[in-house]
Amino acid sequence: SLSRSGDEGRATGTGTGKTHSQTRGQNRRSSAMITCYIGLGGNIANALGTPRQHIANAIAAFYASPHFANVTASSLYQSKAFGVTDQPDFSNAVVKVDTDLAPLALLDFCQSLESAAKRTRLRHWGERSLDVDVLLYGDDTINNARLVVPHEGLFARNFVLIPMLELDPTLMVNGQKLADLPTSQQWQGLEKLTGV
Ligand code: ADP
Ligand code: MG
Repeated sequence: SLSRSGDEGRATGTGTGKTHSQTRGQNRRSSAMITCYIGLGGNIANALGTPRQHIANAIAAFYASPHFANVTASSLYQSKAFGVTDQPDFSNAVVKVDTDLAPLALLDFCQSLESAAKRTRLRHWGERSLDVDVLLYGDDTINNARLVVPHEGLFARNFVLIPMLELDPTLMVNGQKLADLPTSQQWQGLEKLTGV
C-alpha cells in the first residue's frame, strides 16, 4: 500500500500548526510540494515525432502544468538498448520537478504523456515512442500494484543514474549516495548529447 495516502499525510507531517482550519483545505495543495525525479526514454519515431521530440514535448508539458514548479531537465543522452538489444538506440533524459500531485496522480500524469506521444509498444523491454517513469517521489518508499518507488531499475541503469547526478550530484536514496554506486561511473553504451 502507499506509504502516504494523498495529501493528508503531507499536510499534517509538514504543517507548522500556523494554518487556520478555515484555509487548510484550499492551501493544502500549494503548501507541500514534493521533489520528484522522472525518467524519460524512447527509441522509435512515429507520426508525432522522433524520440527526441517526444522527450522535448514531455518536458514542455511539465513546464506547462500548474502542478509542477522548479522544473529542471538534464542533458539529452543516447543509450544502447538494455535487455532486448536488437532495436534502435534510446534517447533518454531525466527531469527534476516539485509537485503537489499525490503519487498515483503523478503516475497518471506520466502515463498521459505516454498516451500523448501515441505510445506504441511491441514487446517487453522493447521499442517504444515514449516511456515516462517515476524514479523518486521525495524520500517515499511506495509499493503499490501500479507504482513502485524508488523505481526498480534506478540503481542499476547508467542512463538513469548519470542524468540524475547531473541534476543533483549529492543525491541520496535510502542513505545511499547515488554518486558512490559503481554504475554511476560506467558510461558503457551511454553518450551525452548536446542539449534536448
Ligand atoms: P517499463 O517502464 O518497465 O518498460 P512500462 O512503462 O510498460 O514498463 O510500465 C508498466 C507498468 O509499470 C505501468 O503500467 C505502471 O503501472 C508500472 N509502474 C510501477 N512502478 C512504476 C514507476 N515507478 N513508474 C512508472 N510506472 C511504474
Ligand atoms: Mg515505464
